[in-house]
Amino acid sequence: MTTASERALASCERRYRELAHELAQIGYVASGSIAQRSTRCGKDTCACGADPPRLHGPYWHFTAKVHGKTVNKRLSDREARLYEEWIANDRLARDLLAEMRTIAAEAQALILAEESAERGRPPRRRAAPEKRTTFTRAKS
Ligand SMILES: [Zn+2]
Repeated sequence: MTTASERALASCERRYRELAHELAQIGYVASGSIAQRSTRCGKDTCACGADPPRLHGPYWHFTAKVHGKTVNKRLSDREARLYEEWIANDRLARDLLAEMRTIAAEAQALILAEESAERGRPPRRRAAPEKRTTFTRAKS
């Protein structure tokens, strides 16, 4: 491996470790969304069914997909604030992972280029045993 690509790989490795460290520090995650919604209770005599309707709420609701099904639950203000944080954590975790994939792809391109350069070289010794495939790892 050339010094330039060694340096590039070391830099990828460093950045990758930093992102992994950040990812490890993230609090609870939740995938879903929260929104305020006004509702109807469905009682015949209630003002929410009148014309014009006077709806209940607005109330906070959390919506998420669980095993392909949409689940929805009503939240208190306090619960809504917690979900806001967990959802923000989830977004941050996904952003970090996306960045890790980008950097990993850069490192992988360097590693694979090195692998194919080695394959292209003439064997150093006669009757050398078939080189096993190894994965180059940068020193951290
Ligand atoms: Zn009602």
